[in-house]
Amino acid sequence: MTIFQLYKQIKPYVTKYRTLVIATLLLTLIGSFAAQINALILRYTVDEITNLLNVPDKLSRGWNLLVFISVVLLAKELIYTFVQFGQKFYGEKLRIYVAKDLAQTVIDKILTYQLSFFTSQDNESGKLQTRIDRGIESLTRLVQNFFIDILPLFANAIVALAFMFQANFYVGLVGLVLVPIYFVITQRQALKLGGWRRKMRSYRESKSQGIISIIESITVIKSFNRETIESNKQLELQESLTANQMQTRKTNFMYDGIKSFVEQIGVVIIIILTSYLVLSGQMTIGAIMFHILLFNNVSAPIRQLHRIYDEMNDALIYSESYFEILNANYEIERSGSYKNKSLKGYFQLKNVHFSYPNGTKALTDINLEIKPNRITALVGLSGAGKSTIINLLDKFYRPQKGSILLDGVSLDDYDTRFLRNQIGLVLQKNHIFNGTIEENIRYGKVDASFEEIEEAAKKAYIHEQIQKLPDGYQTKALNLSGGQQQRIAIARMFLKNPPIIFLDEPTASLDAIATEQIKNSLDAIKKNRTVVIISHSISQIIDADYIYALKEGRIFESGNHDEIYRLGGVYKEIFDASARSLNIEKIAKTYDD
Ligand code: ADP
Repeated sequence: MTIFQLYKQIKPYVTKYRTLVIATLLLTLIGSFAAQINALILRYTVDEITNLLNVPDKLSRGWNLLVFISVVLLAKELIYTFVQFGQKFYGEKLRIYVAKDLAQTVIDKILTYQLSFFTSQDNESGKLQTRIDRGIESLTRLVQNFFIDILPLFANAIVALAFMFQANFYVGLVGLVLVPIYFVITQRQALKLGGWRRKMRSYRESKSQGIISIIESITVIKSFNRETIESNKQLELQESLTANQMQTRKTNFMYDGIKSFVEQIGVVIIIILTSYLVLSGQMTIGAIMFHILLFNNVSAPIRQLHRIYDEMNDALIYSESYFEILNANYEIERSGSYKNKSLKGYFQLKNVHFSYPNGTKALTDINLEIKPNRITALVGLSGAGKSTIINLLDKFYRPQKGSILLDGVSLDDYDTRFLRNQIGLVLQKNHIFNGTIEENIRYGKVDASFEEIEEAAKKAYIHEQIQKLPDGYQTKALNLSGGQQQRIAIARMFLKNPPIIFLDEPTASLDAIATEQIKNSLDAIKKNRTVVIISHSISQIIDADYIYALKEGRIFESGNHDEIYRLGGVYKEIFDASARSLNIEKIAKTYDD
């Protein structure tokens, strides 16, 4: 991204606060004139005192002079204090408001993105978070720099330079010549640092991703005693990061030294030049201090040039990825406008081919029908493509080829929000939010009454257990066991009460009793609904009205249990293996005895 592009991107966020910007700029202008007063007063004082040395009543006239300059300096300081306060306050206000807007904009935007955006490897949660945080941080720092630091400094420099030229052309020239020299040095410095900076960004992202992944897999790490390996992985990263930081510092310190040296040469030239002008009678002695102070007003902001350059570069690099996230428009979920109040829930997949964005081919030429008022089961080994089918039916992804129809209308034409309102999705591992049990169930229907929530919990066979907890429905849901959390998720779906239900191994983490109870309540709600179930549990599959057997992304067989079993293919293979793993023979013997 170039500075110009960055400016164009950030402009709308700043122009929103036009009054603040104008107020800050106005104060900046007043401030930069006030900043020159010290230099003017000093010249006046030195000249006046030099004159006084030659008159008889020097002391009494000296007092008058001192009172005068004290009043002027104090008055200036008073005005300057107010100006600086206003300038910093308005600048800061602008920064805080822009930061808020940037943060909210990116949150609103990513909520509209397709699932593929979040599952992409580039956007792992840690990386995404660092990118957003750093982006906002550096962009707001840029705004702050510009309106609080840079602008006043540069306004000062320009006004000071104008005063220098007004005093003497050559003095002004020395001040002016310094600018391009500094600029060239700073540019070289920035060029040297450019590559390291980019590397730094990726190191930082990996670092926060590393910490997150350690926290997430802590049980596995500990049980396998892999602390040292994990620690070494991080150490390697830390070492590269440190080496990079040291290189950056070294370069910076070296160039800072060179710049200091150049500046001192400037001071020396000013002293020599002004001394010559004073000695040759073209100027009064006060001019020496006057010029040195003015030169300082010019060089102070230029000294900041590399910081500005650095931060500008930071802003360019980090904001690049921030705006990339913001402008990933192609990721926006598509939505049609079709809504059907009396949805039957009849799905048809015709010649559907689908690959995930990373290129994994998950489904090949899928043709299937899912009819209302019955349970359709998807069976197949892990990785066969079952969950992918549900992802497509939920419009989380779009197939590359083929069509998906619901009640004869393409899924593309459906209003996505409407469609998802009609679907209840229960996954093997359901997401429980950080909140109470009540809040977690209420997610299914935000305006539900407490009675409705209890009713849903009863259907999910969790109500009694909740009641026994000391805090009841106000218990933190994350403290519940996996099986209990699963039933909270099922209660959430019961509360939503949708006409279409997708169950992806819903009872995988439940104990036997809970599985049986849930099975009963699912049986109860399948009436007048479309139910699709993915399951490895024979009992659930046998109960299904129609079964599709998948293997490696293709449908191999379909039919009801008896029909499909008799085909003697994939389904029979999986079914027999499940039965054997359950030790059905011995179980049967137990019952015979
Ligand atoms: P099943 O539900 O039958 O176990 P899936 O539908 O989850 O199988 O997966 C089908 C294939 O798609 C697998 O090869 C899996 O690795 C791949 N896959 C699943 N999810 C993703 C994803 N988000 N990105 C890339 N590949 C994926």
